[in-house]
Amino acid sequence: MSHPNDPKLRSFIPVEPTSDFPIQNLPYGVFSTSADPARRVGVAIGDHVLDLAALEAAGLLAAGNAKGVFAQPSINAFMALGPDVWSKTRARISALLRHDNAELRDNADLRSRALLARKDVQLHLPVTVAGFTDFYSSKEHATNVGVMFRGKDNALQPNWLHIPIGYNGRASTVVVSGTKVRRPNGQLKPPTAEVPTFGPCKRLDFELEMGVVVGQPSEMGTMLTEAQADAMIFGFTLLNDWSARDIQQWEYVPLGPFQAKVFGTSISPWIVTREALEPFRVHGPQQDPQPLPYLAQKLANNYDLNLDVTLRTPKMSQPQRISRTNFKYMYWSSVQQLVHHASSGCAMSVGDLLGSGTISGPEKDQRGSLLELSWGGAEPLTFGDERRTFLEDGDSLAFTGWCQGDGYRVGFGEVEGTILPAV
Ligand code: CA
Repeated sequence: MSHPNDPKLRSFIPVEPTSDFPIQNLPYGVFSTSADPARRVGVAIGDHVLDLAALEAAGLLAAGNAKGVFAQPSINAFMALGPDVWSKTRARISALLRHDNAELRDNADLRSRALLARKDVQLHLPVTVAGFTDFYSSKEHATNVGVMFRGKDNALQPNWLHIPIGYNGRASTVVVSGTKVRRPNGQLKPPTAEVPTFGPCKRLDFELEMGVVVGQPSEMGTMLTEAQADAMIFGFTLLNDWSARDIQQWEYVPLGPFQAKVFGTSISPWIVTREALEPFRVHGPQQDPQPLPYLAQKLANNYDLNLDVTLRTPKMSQPQRISRTNFKYMYWSSVQQLVHHASSGCAMSVGDLLGSGTISGPEKDQRGSLLELSWGGAEPLTFGDERRTFLEDGDSLAFTGWCQGDGYRVGFGEVEGTILPAV
């Protein structure tokens, strides 16, 4: 039997070569329909969603020996079953969708119940997020921000090349794509002001990131090896770490960002599995100085994953691309982040979400935030007669991402959010 990543596999469901969701992908999400509002687990295939709870009820699919894990409002119970079950389940779903397998293809009744048009379903937050941690792992991003705030000679802090820098964020405000994001209020003290005031953020920004979804726990007091950390990663999602630059600037000394980062974090509705991304693994940039031994990497832990950012202001008829970059540029890999996260003995949980940190590439149009794209507001982006330094009310921001295979792509769909005015 072919491996589910075999580029030659075809489904009986028609899939365009530019679709994010060929049979080689099969990302997991949570959905409901107007006919059946119960949230359940599905996978995306072409323009359809395959209802895994319906397949299980029909006796065509099982997740190991567990019962009912797909008839749940998150993928956590499925993730908790571990990598062996993830792999076997994906292989079975792949087999059921193959063009030459009659089990589902020729069962008209089951097809009508289990294969739904994607446009007709409501997508929900796929993961019950246990904890959210945000890293700062793009050397280009850290350098750009450092140059702006401290000058060229002190751009990178002395610890940056030794530690995957991160902070503990909030799981409570992680939302699914399409959720509107309200401009936060906060303490503001521009450098020219004597005292702070409280009011709406004036420098509202996005951060282009990938999110890692942790699918297995680690025990408090234990460290992780590279191989253990890699095996714990269930999959990846697009992540927008909305940021209030002016709030951050006043609050971040000495304990790091707080209110500037906790008013909303958006993720895409589909979790693309680590296994589906295997063909696109690449080595990250050369690390110099060599990381400490506990952070050493033997595996190719980066991914050749294209990322686009588009902006649509209320006046635009079409979204405009403002950045195109690649996840492969990240200096610290997701595996190193996870190893470091557990290195003190911190327990990791099923459903933990790790933000990669803003992904910026070496070129100017590869920057992953407006802070960098507009160089702190000094170089506005122009669109006809419109200008933008930071986000305005009504602006809609969207990320897409995909790995390009030979004749197919493994994509992530979209994470979109529109800015509402402050209350
Ligand atoms: Ca961030």
